[in-house]
Order: sequence, then structure tokens, then C-alpha cells
Amino acid sequence: MTGLSGARGLLICVSGPSGVGKGTIIREVLRRRANMAHSISVTTRAPRPGEQHGVDYYFTDRQSFLRMLEAGEILEHDIYCDQYYGTPLKPLQKLVAAGTDVLLDITVPGSLAVMQNYPDCVTLCLLPPSLTELKNRLSKRGTETAEAMQKRLTKARDEVKMASSFQYVVVNDNLTETARQIQAIIDAEHCRYARLAGIEETILAH
Ligand code: ADP
Ligand code: 5GP
Repeated sequence: MTGLSGARGLLICVSGPSGVGKGTIIREVLRRRANMAHSISVTTRAPRPGEQHGVDYYFTDRQSFLRMLEAGEILEHDIYCDQYYGTPLKPLQKLVAAGTDVLLDITVPGSLAVMQNYPDCVTLCLLPPSLTELKNRLSKRGTETAEAMQKRLTKARDEVKMASSFQYVVVNDNLTETARQIQAIIDAEHCRYARLAGIEETILAH
């Protein structure tokens, strides 16, 4: 994965089944913490009511997506329920270089790809308390047709089974508690010695 070596901000990949609460929890963590951002993905899926171009996603067509891919403008991408989703590289490079922690809302294969090519990243699998609760959340959100919802729920079983591939697993039962746990993970990651290498010299110099 090119162009992310020497990054200072954390890259935090958040994966989990559709409807588990990835978007909600990312918004909550952003609201609570300074110096954090959400990586805005490019997608060929149609906007849902209320979603804004450049805020929730960059909505585009298949041809433009493939052009970006070919031009090397996308860090990783995946096809989910017949639509393309990808992480734009440049904005991410800018953010981490400036020391901003970035949350990526991406598929399981997306997280695995980032992990393989950028081992410094943090990977987190968000799980629902149960499949029944996941169904409730998806139907309550009401953004998918019955057919699309069924497709997403079928995928959900495989996504849950991939939990062991992640560094961290958080069960999103109570939103406040989930946000607290994710913040604790981010704080702990900042205290890893590997991220603070050389700190002794800095301290002993004064
Ligand atoms: P995702 O981004 O993973 O597809 P969303 O963030 O859109 O999921 O959340 C799906 C639905 O579940 C939304 O209606 C949201 O308000 C709700 N939700 C999210 N987290 C919780 C929670 N901890 N408890 C109850 N409902 C939740
Ligand atoms: P949704 O259509 O519900 O917004 O997103 C569908 C799936 O695509 C979710 O699992 C979400 O995490 C994932 N996704 C969103 N953006 C990206 C991206 O840039 N890359 C990858 N690999 N997955 C993404």
C-alpha cells in the first residue's frame, strides 16, 4: 500500500455487518474526540435519503470509479452487493501526515487488505448482540428494499464469522458503552511503544 509510511495519525479500520451501527458509532466517536476524521469513501451505490455527497460518500458512476482505480487514486476497494466502494488515497495521506486519527468504515476484505499492506493500522470488528437485533436495526433504519436487506443479512453471517481476523472486537449493544470502548482502544494504541519510539531521548534531553 503506497504512500502511507511514516504516517503519524492512526488508521482505524471499522468493519462489521450492515446495520450493526458502524456509521452511528463513527459519528459518535467523532463528536467526542478532537483530531479525528472519517475517511469519506467513493461509491457507485445510490445515495440514501439524507445522505450528502462529500459528507457521507462521494457518489459516482461505475465508469468514473474505474477511472479513479486505474489512476491509482484508491487505496483499497471492494464490491459489496453489486456496488463498488473505495477509499480515496490522497485525503487519507494528508490526514495521517497531519497527525489526525482516521476512522475507515469498510468491508471485512477492505480491512484485511489495509492490514496486510499497512501493518501499523488498527482493525476493529463491530458485532451486534444477536442476529435478531441486527435484523431489527436494519429494518428500523428502513433504507433497503426487502430483497437488499435479505442480501445484507446473508452476508452478515460470514462477516460475523470473520471476527477472529481482527485485532479488536466490540459488541455494539449500548451505544455509549461502545463509544467508550472504542475511545479506550484508540487511547491504548497511542500508548504502544512502537508508536512512541525515541521518546526516552526526548525526555532525557530536557
Ligand atoms: P451500519 O453503518 O453498520 O450499516 P448504522 O450506523 O446505519 O449501521 O446503524 C443501523 C441502525 O441501527 C440505525 O438506525 C442506528 O440508529 C441503529 N443503531 C446503531 N447503534 C445502535 C445501538 N447501539 N443500539 C440500538 N440501535 C443502534
Ligand atoms: P453501505 O452501503 O451500507 O453504506 O456500505 C456497505 C458496505 O460497504 C459496508 O460494509 C461499508 O463498511 C463498506 N464500505 C464503505 N466504504 C468502503 C470503502 O471505501 N472500502 C470498502 N472496502 N468498503 C467500504
